[in-house]
Amino acid sequence: MARDPRYDILFEPVKIGPVTTKNRFYQVPHCNGQGYRDPSAVAKMRGNKAAGGWGVLCTEQAEIHHTSEITPFIELRLWDDRDIPQLQKMSDAIHAENALAGIELAYNGPNGSNLYTREVPLGPSHLPIATFYYDPVQARAMDLSDIKNLRRWHKNAAIRAKRAGFDIIYVYAAHGFSIIQHFLSRRFNTRSDEYGGSLENRMRLLREITEDTKDAVGDTAAVAVRIAVDELMGESGLHKAEIEDVIGRMAETPDLWDVTLSDWGNDSRTSRFTEEAAEEEFVRGIKKLTTRPVVGVGRFTSPDLMVRQVKSGILDLIGAARPSIADPFLPNKIDEGRIDDIRECIGCNICVSGDMTMSPSRCTQNPAMGEEWRKGWHPEFIRSRESEARVLVVGGGPAGLEAARALGQRGYEVALAEAGTELGGRVARECRLPTLSAWGRVRDWRVGQINKMPNVSVYLDSKLDADQVLEFGFDHIVVATGSSWRRDGVAHYHLAALPNAGMPTLTPDDLMAGTRPKGKHVVLFDDDHYYMGGICAELLVKAGHHVTFVTPAAEVSTWTRNTLEQDKIQAKLINMGVDVIVSHAVATAQAGGVELACTFTGRKKALTCDDLVLVASRLPQDQLYLDLKARETDWGDIKTVRGIGDCWAPSTIAAAVYAGRRYAEEFDAPDIGDAVPFKRELAELLP
Ligand code: ADP
Ligand code: SF4
Repeated sequence: MARDPRYDILFEPVKIGPVTTKNRFYQVPHCNGQGYRDPSAVAKMRGNKAAGGWGVLCTEQAEIHHTSEITPFIELRLWDDRDIPQLQKMSDAIHAENALAGIELAYNGPNGSNLYTREVPLGPSHLPIATFYYDPVQARAMDLSDIKNLRRWHKNAAIRAKRAGFDIIYVYAAHGFSIIQHFLSRRFNTRSDEYGGSLENRMRLLREITEDTKDAVGDTAAVAVRIAVDELMGESGLHKAEIEDVIGRMAETPDLWDVTLSDWGNDSRTSRFTEEAAEEEFVRGIKKLTTRPVVGVGRFTSPDLMVRQVKSGILDLIGAARPSIADPFLPNKIDEGRIDDIRECIGCNICVSGDMTMSPSRCTQNPAMGEEWRKGWHPEFIRSRESEARVLVVGGGPAGLEAARALGQRGYEVALAEAGTELGGRVARECRLPTLSAWGRVRDWRVGQINKMPNVSVYLDSKLDADQVLEFGFDHIVVATGSSWRRDGVAHYHLAALPNAGMPTLTPDDLMAGTRPKGKHVVLFDDDHYYMGGICAELLVKAGHHVTFVTPAAEVSTWTRNTLEQDKIQAKLINMGVDVIVSHAVATAQAGGVELACTFTGRKKALTCDDLVLVASRLPQDQLYLDLKARETDWGDIKTVRGIGDCWAPSTIAAAVYAGRRYAEEFDAPDIGDAVPFKRELAELLP
């Protein structure tokens, strides 16, 4: 198919200083939890995206000097020449696909505790290190010789970056992750010398480092400034008017302005909290201040919205991190007129959780993310079938859908049987909950792909038992029958059933099926700690209930720190009038009330309520799998029976999608026994 001419503008080249990008698709710097630990993996991941049509591919942040590092987080390092080959591998992979390579040089300063190097962190002022943890470490206020050193370190890093093959070299002043932003900030910079006080003074370091970088590498590499335009704190933080002033004063100094919100949680807001293009109001008008190209993000997956950004003079380049993770081939699909094939990011921030947990980023929509090099999985392609085998997939949730889709793509004959009258499983149910509608894209993309495959047949309203499965005569059976929320409260706190003498009790499954509590006052006990508790509380308030949210953790939905949502969820619940009781568990329940126990002292207190909602753990729905395994003697021509996804062990939607892809990749692969099922790089031993 040919490209829709409406989208031609997205494929125009754009000059960025001394280099030119072939189109407007710009993968802005993004972390991925692999960094210096898994260099070939990152190179392959970025190279694949370059093959998918992005004009520019940037690295995650690269620490420029050993005096500022962000252990335990795993980004890149450019401390000395020995780091160059790793980075060169990435720029080579990007250049091999005719794209430009950008590198985000970072000196974290007051955002890195230096737990690895034990160097004393530097900052504009004497202040505690501002990381995700309350590390007992302070930054030392820099004197003028420290500032001179920092400028030299940055310049040397820029030269090394150019030697490593990068075409766009960043001066980073965003996300609260860079000392240059801390110097800009009235909150962090309380200096009284020429680097503090007035705006011109606070931006002096930004100006000097940008000019140094231009001097050092600007003849052949573009110099980009990535700047936080707003911290969403009103005038007490960096805000649009102030940063517009900065950009106006330095308008033509860099070759590119990359504009973002700060902190990271504000820049990478989830679909629970913002729509696509949510940054528009903060970046509108910046292009009037400079003739240099401007790039910005907005979880863009719609080509029409992208075109509007360019045509209405908001952005020159369509920045994307998450949309490029969910669909590394997004630009090519627009180019080829295959809009329906775009695998849209759902805005869940599971990718972010990889970085936050120092593990390779994974993606709910793209199960190949992080597996490109170590398992050889491609985000778009998969090897052809190796036999005439016919596969029956039982269950049409994310695991079953992805297994059927990937097996179908391989060319196998697949039947997908789903008990219900719609596909999607938990995704179909959960996307009807408040704020989760974008999650339906997990189902929509897979159903759209399957509908194009003549070799995949879908049977709705087909709840199968073992007798039926054994009758059909398939060669391989995949059981993806999902899970259900426990009614007995077993999770982290209660390892045996919560004693309950007559308190009406509902689970998230009941709420999703439309059942509502009978009384007004509901206690919601969340021992799951991810999104479901907060969402159920929101649903109950909207249905007119008074909700007391009880959690054994020190805050609501504590795991959502990893998706950058925790502060937003807790604020929302408080603002909705939910009573929050932390560090307590519902110990027992009886008609009319519950007894809470303090998780530290065990001290009990009574709480009256009408109903209890338990967001505990889930039980696999694995009866079909167990029945089939028990009848192996009746299998006949059936060669394998496997359970995958939540019916194997309940986890995230991302894990279910991964399980589906993994089945399709591995069910006919040679048995590798006890071998590690992926490649890994090991540290080089020095004498
Ligand atoms: P996962 O996340 O592992 O994909 P889900 O719970 O989302 O699991 O989906 C499981 C799907 O399996 C549900 O749509 C459910 O209706 C379906 N299912 C469960 N048992 C059967 C069965 N015996 N036959 C067919 N479909 C089933
Ligand atoms: Fe988008 Fe979620 Fe994938 Fe991240 S993990 S890229 S937010 S779909």
